[in-house]
Amino acid sequence: MAKIDQKFEPITAAEEAAAAVPAPGVVATDGPSADQAGGTLTIDLGALVANWQSLGRRVMPAECAAVVKANAYGLGIEQVVPALARAGCKTFFVADLSEARRVRAVAPDAAIYVLSGMLPNTGPAFADIKARPVINSTVELAEWDAFVAASGSRGGAALHVDTGMNRLGVSINDAAALAPRIRAENHGIHLLMSHFACADEPEHPLNDRQIKLFREVRLLYRGIPSSLANSSGIFLSDAAHCDVVRPGVALYGVNPTPGKQNPMQPVVGLKARVVQVRHVTRGETVGYSGTWTARRAARIAVVAAGYADGYLRASGSTDEVPGGAAIVAGKRCALAGRVSMDLSTVDVSELAEGAVRRGDMVTLIGDDLTLDEVARGAGTIAYELLTGLGKRFHRVYVKD
Ligand SMILES: *Cc1c(COP(=O)(O)O)cnc(C)c1O
Repeated sequence: MAKIDQKFEPITAAEEAAAAVPAPGVVATDGPSADQAGGTLTIDLGALVANWQSLGRRVMPAECAAVVKANAYGLGIEQVVPALARAGCKTFFVADLSEARRVRAVAPDAAIYVLSGMLPNTGPAFADIKARPVINSTVELAEWDAFVAASGSRGGAALHVDTGMNRLGVSINDAAALAPRIRAENHGIHLLMSHFACADEPEHPLNDRQIKLFREVRLLYRGIPSSLANSSGIFLSDAAHCDVVRPGVALYGVNPTPGKQNPMQPVVGLKARVVQVRHVTRGETVGYSGTWTARRAARIAVVAAGYADGYLRASGSTDEVPGGAAIVAGKRCALAGRVSMDLSTVDVSELAEGAVRRGDMVTLIGDDLTLDEVARGAGTIAYELLTGLGKRFHRVYVKD
């Protein structure tokens, strides 16, 4: 035995030296390899957990759940959910059953709520993974009751009451009419919830109206935990916290208090690779439809990220309207012309010749190019940018 060990020891050491040593703090990677991908998306799980903890401190003694629908806002259920569960998160909200199944696979003990509710004939699928539908109408409630009566399932559900969003949820009147059922043993309602329509606009009168209406419904459901606030709702008022808060976007570093300093830590960084740097003479145009004209001899870095990667087409620029920016060799440089499917073009004329070369990485999201700013520049919100970031990037999960 000892002999074999001695014989193999040097080989193991050599193998170790030859293996690519992951950068410090890297806990997982996903997607194509870094050297072959057009870009690298970095997801800071340490910052994610810190954001969840800071929201939890803010709402204490309410419970801080986590909304991980749309594949944890595009960042990966399989990495995001275990990181939050290890930190103590016990309740997760997803959009549909397939996401619930993925959460269950990595969080065996968590409570999982499915926000889109119960589609026809899905009772057994809920029971199978102990996921709870958010009951969004009286029709769904009737089907859920029938399923529970027939199957004896004890998984439970949430009841969603509409207080002004007019998207999902039973009416206030229906909620009042249904309230006596909580006197029954095994009524199965584990959570009473509603959803803000305008929480990112603190002055909007609908916020107070929704808080007041929900308070009235809660009185009828005394003893049932209640939940109203999404990320921005947490910052509206303590009266919005109830028993459970449901932050999504703030966990991922997006500012839940638009117009004010962002209290969250950035979680996402996107760097993309320079495919080539080319020279354009004065008066020539760059890209589709020739929307951007070189006003002098220019150098253009062609970057391997486009709208098929979720780098939004509306970030492009024209001669009249400036577009988005990239940070190249430490300097902010403007996009030149349209964003195309797989590529974007950046005006790097301001940089010293040779400061950026083929193979270099430029920053598209990160440093002072925040998700919020990049989204705003493209006429949209950070939610859409975040959930659209594509599958072609190499993904690196770090923990600081
Ligand atoms: C998406 C969603 C949330 C989370 O919203 P954020 O604004 O991302 O915090 C909470 N509740 C419901 C019902 C949702 O649909």
